[in-house]
This record gives sequence, structure tokens and C-alpha cells, in this order.
Amino acid sequence: MENKTLTELTVELKSKKISSSELTKYYLEKIKKYDPRLNSFITLTEEFALKKASQIDTEISKGNFKPLSGIPIAQKDIFCTKGVRTTCGSKMLSNFISPYDATVIRKLNEAGTVMIGKTNMDEFAMGSSNETSYFGTVKNPWDLERVPGGSSGGSAACVSAGLAPCATGTDTGGSIRQPASLTGICGLKPTYGRVSRYGMIAFASSLDQAGVFAKTAEDCALLLTHMSGYDEQDSTSSRESVPNYLQECKAEFKGMKIGIPKEFLEGLDHDVHLIFDEAVKQLEKVNCKIVEISLKSSKLGVSAYQVVAPAECSSNLSRYDGVRFGHRTKDAENIIELYKKSRSEGFGDEVKRRILVGTYALSAGYYDAYYIKAQKIRSLISREFKEAFDKVDLIIGPTTPDVAFKLGEKLNDPIAMYLSDIFTVSTNLAGLPAISIPMGMKKNLPTGLQIIGGHFQESKLLSLAHEFQKMTDWHLQKPDNQKWI
Ligand code: GLN
Repeated sequence: MENKTLTELTVELKSKKISSSELTKYYLEKIKKYDPRLNSFITLTEEFALKKASQIDTEISKGNFKPLSGIPIAQKDIFCTKGVRTTCGSKMLSNFISPYDATVIRKLNEAGTVMIGKTNMDEFAMGSSNETSYFGTVKNPWDLERVPGGSSGGSAACVSAGLAPCATGTDTGGSIRQPASLTGICGLKPTYGRVSRYGMIAFASSLDQAGVFAKTAEDCALLLTHMSGYDEQDSTSSRESVPNYLQECKAEFKGMKIGIPKEFLEGLDHDVHLIFDEAVKQLEKVNCKIVEISLKSSKLGVSAYQVVAPAECSSNLSRYDGVRFGHRTKDAENIIELYKKSRSEGFGDEVKRRILVGTYALSAGYYDAYYIKAQKIRSLISREFKEAFDKVDLIIGPTTPDVAFKLGEKLNDPIAMYLSDIFTVSTNLAGLPAISIPMGMKKNLPTGLQIIGGHFQESKLLSLAHEFQKMTDWHLQKPDNQKWI
């Protein structure tokens, strides 16, 4: 079952070769067996899932088939789900039950998917290792002593380990692509505005974007088609029409002009460099013309990001005060103490660090020196990408400078942790779509190839990703679950 693409599974569901109830039970059993070691789920929605699966089966028997009818899916615990706890990986929201569904959840429900659970994540999506979650660290299925990446580490780990056929994620600076790369699966971050952010708990609103994890580019394309579109509840969502990404990604491939920014090869691990060179050779075989380009401001991406993202987060997270939202302290003498204690108890260290940095950067006297300067760098980065896309169809590079690091290795060194996003943050600053797909193994640990496109060029990058997957089988490799039970 696991090796089947979503398209293949939908064919089997439609022809009643398998039922959604069987498929859902299969994944729930696997989660129960393997997840105690992995910790990729915060909440399992077994009862809810089995009920929905059986409803879908009834619908199918009546000939009523929706595009994703009966497909089990894991949802990142950053998306509000009506009646099911949404924690965002934080003690602050550990008891929060949303009265409504996020648009992503609603759309995927309407397309027929079955939510099997909510996945673990770095607290409020701040992190690159999934070690900042209030609900414990997530392990990398390829090596339980290593991180799965973050912040969507739970979603990536469960798909990689075969505990779910697909999952959602969010990407503010790399949180879909970096964990996809470190766990050997595909992770797609769409153009800013492609997918509604309504009901997706905000970290840095001008950068946050919802996307997906799956085993193949085809599967990402199918899911994206049913998540995207204008939403009047999100004023930043785009009115750009939604193509059938699956059809477009499978259309005949006629070759492309591809740019490799020389800055994306600096500071790269030697073995990852060699693996990347091999991937490039594959692309040359299918009529891709490779040219070197330069995105010199991308080197400043992490610095700019680490001002803009905390600035926005300090504002977004002000609503968690124990009164309007979130954990409320048990003993407070007055309202000021109530705010202070509720926030001190509810937030973890990394979240507090970001709030402090952001508040500082936005304060009078420092605003021009930090926030405005970071915004200027952001404009420069966007302009350089725009100029690059006048010359090339797509830009590629490795997703991360190296493979998954050891648990704890970077936890006490925030700068080293932030640098794991060096190749991913610039695309968020420019609002561009990008995907990470498996490109090879370094000593049994996966590496990822990042493909970046111009605004709303998802079909183009999915098409290159699909072409690469026709020639290689890195995306079919799986970690050995038997090792850890
Ligand atoms: N790792 C980055 C951070 O900690 C990106 C997080 C994300 O994309 N949500 O900010």
C-alpha cells in the first residue's frame, strides 16, 4: 500500500479495490506501532477518522467520488481544526479547541481526505529541528538519534516513515523544505498567497505559507490543486486561477533553462556537493541547459529573516496573554502579573527569544537600524530573483548545507540552528514557490534538491521535479522501521 502514489490509491478507492476504512485503519495501526519511538503525532484522531472513512465509503458506494475521496492525511498542528485540539506545539495552546476549521483543513475535507491526526512541530513553528516542541522532540526515521528538521518535523517524519501517505506543513523560512530534505521526501512550499492562511496560526504573516509533504512530485501536485485558491477570509490570498497541477506536471517535458546560484554552493558539505553534481547531470540528460547565476544578496537572507520574522512574531503572539487566548496562570495578584506569569509559563525559550528580538527590532530608536534595513535587504533579494527569472526558467540548489544533524547538536547555538535555513529563507522573503525532492544519500541519510520558481510557477517546478523522479528512485527509498521496534 505504501508504495502507491495518491493517484494510484484514488484509483483503487474508486474501483472499490480497497476501502477508505481499510486504508485508514492500516495507517492508524502503523502509527500505534511505530510512533511511540518517533513522536511525530501530538493528537491521533482515530474515532473521527474511522467515522469519516466509513462515511466516505458509503458515498463511494453510491458513486459519489471526490478528487481525494478516502485518502488519509496528517495535519500539522498549526491548522485550526473544529472540535479537535490545536496546540501549535506549545503549552500556551495545549488545551485549545478551535471553533472553526482552517481553510486548508476545510478544502482538504471537502476534497474527501480523512484526517488521521495532528502532527508535532516546533513551538509556534519556530525552529529547524523539532526540538522546541512542548510535546517532545521528533526523531528522524532514518536515524533516531538525529533531528527530522523543523518546524514541520512531525509531518515530515510520519510521511517518511510510512505512517501517513501525505501531510500538510507550513513554511515561513524553510519549515517544509528543510524537514523534507532531512527525511527523504518531497515538500512543496507554494507562492505566497496561493493557499489561504485563514485558520493557520500566525508566526510571521508576510512569510508564512501552507504546503504539503508527500512521496512524489505528482502527489504534491494533486494535493496543491485542492488546497489552493482565493479565500475571502484571507486578504493576502491570490485571485490567480488554480490550474490542474497534476495534469500540468505530467505534461510532456521539453527541457528548460536552469540557473544554479553560485552562493548556494558555498559552505556546502563535500559529499552533498557531489550528490548535487550527480543530480545536475541527470537534468542535463533531459535537455536542461544549466547556467551559473548569482544571487548575491541571498547571503544576507538569514540576517534579514531573523529580524523580519521575530518582528512579526512579537506582534502576532501578543494575543496569547491568558485572557484573550492561551494558558492562564493559576496564581496572579493583579492583571499585570497575570499577563507576565501566563506568558512566562506558556511559552518556551525559543519563542521568548524571538519575541524579545522582535520587540527590540521594532522599538523606537532601533526600528530604522534593524527593521527598515532588513526590509531593504528583502527588496534586494526579491529584485535579484526577479532578474534571474528573466534569464532562466527555474533555479536549483541543495535544500540544506548538510544532512540531518544529531539531536541536541545545535540546540544551544541558535546561530548555527538558524543557518540550517540558509538556502531556504530567501524564497520566503521573495514570496516564491519552491520544492525539495530527494536527490541522493550520504551514508544512509537523505539529501534534498531544491527547485525554485517564479511567482505562481508551481507547475513548472513540479514538472522538473516529476521529470527527475522518472529518472531516479531516491524518492522510493524508505527508512527501515523494523530497526526501531
Ligand atoms: N527555521 C526557521 C525558523 O526557525 C523557519 C521556520 C519556519 O519556516 N516556520 O524561523
